Amino acid sequence: MSAYLYFDAAASAPPCKQAIAAAEQAYTEYANPSSVHKAGLAAKRMLEHAREQVARAFRCETQELFFTSSGTEANNLILFGLAAKRARVSRKILTTDSEHPSVGEPLKRLEAQGFRVVRISTRGGRLNTEQLRAELEEPVAFLSIMQANNETGALYDIRAVRELLDECGSDAPLHCDAVQGFLKTEDGSLSSLCDFATLSAHKIGGIKGAGAAYLSSKAPHIPALLLGGGQESGMRSGTENVAAIAAFGAAAEAVCSDSGHVRRVGALRGQVIDGLAGSGILLHLPENALANILHISIPNVPSSWALNFLSERGICVSAGSACSAQGRKKGNRVLSAYGLPPQEIETSLRISFSEQNTKEECALLCKALRDCADWKK
Ligand code: PLP
Repeated sequence: MSAYLYFDAAASAPPCKQAIAAAEQAYTEYANPSSVHKAGLAAKRMLEHAREQVARAFRCETQELFFTSSGTEANNLILFGLAAKRARVSRKILTTDSEHPSVGEPLKRLEAQGFRVVRISTRGGRLNTEQLRAELEEPVAFLSIMQANNETGALYDIRAVRELLDECGSDAPLHCDAVQGFLKTEDGSLSSLCDFATLSAHKIGGIKGAGAAYLSSKAPHIPALLLGGGQESGMRSGTENVAAIAAFGAAAEAVCSDSGHVRRVGALRGQVIDGLAGSGILLHLPENALANILHISIPNVPSSWALNFLSERGICVSAGSACSAQGRKKGNRVLSAYGLPPQEIETSLRISFSEQNTKEECALLCKALRDCADWKK
């Protein structure tokens, strides 16, 4: 058992041993992958091997994957690229009311530049496809709809979005932020449903400092955001972080080759759901949810108190997402969109699981959460 009881994998998952080994090996291949000498070529080989591994896991072609420094960067690249490409067709963008800030903030900037951004409701963790259908009656520049919400774990129906686009005869490209959903569901068909997608290494057992943008070969070509030496086929200049990318590839392969992974993590979540029965703790359970995220509210116990209480027992969870923890207002936006009343938002906690959690840890977590709830009764 580690020094902590770590239930914050949706913020950063613990790196798997294959990822650590790949990063260590990459540190010994320290040359610049753009250099054409032997050492540079060795680093380049590691990079291309990782691209094959991530492409296999996401079920796309290697030429469709472009490494970035993070999911945030990939989201910015795709959104600003799509806006530049499609502004002449339409200045209307469709998204949801619960996107991660790395989608929400770029879209706010585009709004300030004259785009009209329509945020489709995700109340109860369900994407409102009727509202989406109505919005598709006029030309749309592009859509950006996340696969799974980072705070509630709700899975949005991307297949239904694709079907709606086809039904309406819309040619608007569909971007999907798959940072939380990648390799966390048993359905691996996302690449066939969207035109653009965003992935991040540190959510799947890789290490921080690598992400990827999926740009389908069938989708319109978008301009790059970072200009310079022309790395990543000109889509993302800047020397690649070979160690983080190698770890990304190794983690993707490790998860992908383990078919029981989603079921095992789901069983841990199920154990905690069962273990909290009768405790008075409120469970926010979307109809379709990721196997690794559980959102709860402990009546009368503000999130910050609960975090401290749990932290004293060595238990790490989040109040909302890590990105919103610095400004609770942003967390409120997502949870309000879900439909939680203020008193449930102020007392909410996100518990997120990884393959490295054990049943014993989950039992200790349930006991601590029950004690925390009793403390304020
Ligand atoms: N999108 C979602 C849904 C996320 O949860 C996160 C991070 O939590 C990001 C994007 C940003 O990814 P990164 O941390 O790699 O920048």
